[in-house]
Amino acid sequence: MTKMFKIALPDGSVREMPEGSTPADVAAAIGPGLAKAALAAKVDGEVRDIMRPFDGDSSLALITSRDEAEALELVRHDFAHILAEAVQNLFPGTQITFGPATEDGFYYDFAPAPARGPFTEEDLPVIEEEMRRIIGADKALIREVWTRDQVRDFFEKSGEAFKAEWVMELPAGETITMYRTGEGEAAWVDLCRGPHLASTGKLDSSAFKLTRVSGAYWRGDPKNPMLSRIYGTAWLNKKQLDAYLVRLEEAAKRDHRKIGQEMDLFHLQAEAHGSVFWHPNGFVIYRQLEAYMRRRIDEAGYQEIKTPQLMDARQWEKSGHWGKYRENMFVVPDEIPHAPEDGEDDDRPILSGDADLMALKPMNCPGHILVFKQGITSYKELPIRFYENGSCHRNEPHGALHGLMRVRQFTQDDAHIFCREDQIVEEARAFCELADRVYKDLGFAGYSVKLALRPDKRFGSDEDWDKAEDELREAVVAAGMATEEFGWEELPGEGAFYAPKLEWHLRDAIGRTWQVGTLQSDRVLPERLDATYVGEDGQKHRPMMFHRAIFGSYERFIGILIEHYAGKFPIWLAPVQAVVATIVSDADAFARQVASKLAAAGIRVVTDLRNEKINYKVREHSLAKVPLLLVVGKREADEGTVALRRLGSDEHQKMMSLEEAVVMIRNEAVPPDLV
Ligand SMILES: [Zn+2]
Ligand SMILES: [Zn+2]
Repeated sequence: MTKMFKIALPDGSVREMPEGSTPADVAAAIGPGLAKAALAAKVDGEVRDIMRPFDGDSSLALITSRDEAEALELVRHDFAHILAEAVQNLFPGTQITFGPATEDGFYYDFAPAPARGPFTEEDLPVIEEEMRRIIGADKALIREVWTRDQVRDFFEKSGEAFKAEWVMELPAGETITMYRTGEGEAAWVDLCRGPHLASTGKLDSSAFKLTRVSGAYWRGDPKNPMLSRIYGTAWLNKKQLDAYLVRLEEAAKRDHRKIGQEMDLFHLQAEAHGSVFWHPNGFVIYRQLEAYMRRRIDEAGYQEIKTPQLMDARQWEKSGHWGKYRENMFVVPDEIPHAPEDGEDDDRPILSGDADLMALKPMNCPGHILVFKQGITSYKELPIRFYENGSCHRNEPHGALHGLMRVRQFTQDDAHIFCREDQIVEEARAFCELADRVYKDLGFAGYSVKLALRPDKRFGSDEDWDKAEDELREAVVAAGMATEEFGWEELPGEGAFYAPKLEWHLRDAIGRTWQVGTLQSDRVLPERLDATYVGEDGQKHRPMMFHRAIFGSYERFIGILIEHYAGKFPIWLAPVQAVVATIVSDADAFARQVASKLAAAGIRVVTDLRNEKINYKVREHSLAKVPLLLVVGKREADEGTVALRRLGSDEHQKMMSLEEAVVMIRNEAVPPDLV
């Protein structure tokens, strides 16, 4: 008699299926619509091929294109295989290595035949064509289980040195799966963990595009051969692909590096890899944000401090950073000047024995604990909230640096809150509200709050984790933000190894998301650095510590603002708020008078008295994204009026008296927290 398996479906029903049946059979039994739509299966929580037979009684959820994240990942992985097959069909002698799905598509790394050299962008159209042919052929993607030696023999025989090398590093007894695309002569095989869709025909051949090529070292190591990497973007359908391409184009227009140059905000150069040179215009934005944040934290009961850039390496050992973080820290010798004695001609500095190595701070936390530890703190003084515009250095590889978004020197809007156990939820709740005000003031109407939960590898007991996660969850509920409106979501496995954290993800003007704010509870560092307070019972207790930031870093946040606003900052943040431009030189004296009235009202204003056509001046100042342009000619000078034009407004210029204009602009330039 055939053995029957019980397959439990998400609606609670159970189907009996004979041994050997697959999720595809279940889909077909439910109905032809589902059989067509089902892309893969989740069997006992694991994503699997829809054609892979059940191992026994199982729970089953079918994955369709409605499960977008999972469907996209599967589809992108399929495209990577098809890319590799296409390249090997077109360019015999090319060796394959690896090709994963990425955030918006896929890539594959190849070792081209030596005579051929690396792939170029010119190769992409013909490769795309061949990929379309493979999709059109609707070849089955078949999972097979091989032994390690079979895999090695297969790859050695087919001249795939990279794959053969890789497979021998897997443990000897490991079950290895190979995926075969198609059958017989036309089959193409790759080592792969899967899962995949049932056949290439499940993909939409109009929903992908090969985007670029680059070099990449085999296994990321510069000592290894350079491979040729081909990137693609892939989606579920053409509509999604087109929307993505428009988004890319829009993002390129908003690139903060491009706008930063057009508006003369900052520059970067190789002499200071990853450290920003702020120009006067850019630093206006920086200072406005600093001043804004200071007002917000003053109001919220924080105290601002400043801690040293350089500390003894041993201090970093104590805090645990030296062990975990050493490769990201800039270390400098602690040299002391050396006054040569008589007869000695060596006046070079010598290494201090007190601290032979020092490190630039990669974070501010240990410094804040050292301030907290000065003197004796009573329970009555808690919570203590220390804020610092904390300049940090982290050693990032040159290749990872990206404009203002990824730098080596940055300034965090960093604070640490030391509190008692009974104050935790209230402190976290208050932070949620503070962050909310800041993001809305800065023009981000939409953001989401997420709770990153315990990872697999972690410190501490499950009870500690239950407690720490509950505290943060409770705080968000108390702030009224654990709702769909605030994009509330819990992210299993994404917390740090010592504690859970709340994350704020901003949505920008073109729908991209940026993780900026964090609130993280920490009971480990106060313990390591022995921070205590005296409780009501007269005994020493450990404070709980929150790490928290709202901008994250000023550098990256300004980068995000530039792209969000496409450089068209709200007036309070604009580097130059108004330009007074003349039509004729007869109006020069009046223009100067207008500018000085505005400057006296606190407006950042410049004059443009050049002997140029007014249209030319208008074009130039709109390119520099100056929000307000006051045009004055002979008539305005005679009548004491100005013609006001707004950046990006189709409205014609508006005539008004100088006094009216000054009052209006002064009101519009008030920062949002002072309105
Ligand atoms: Zn694969
Ligand atoms: Zn911290």
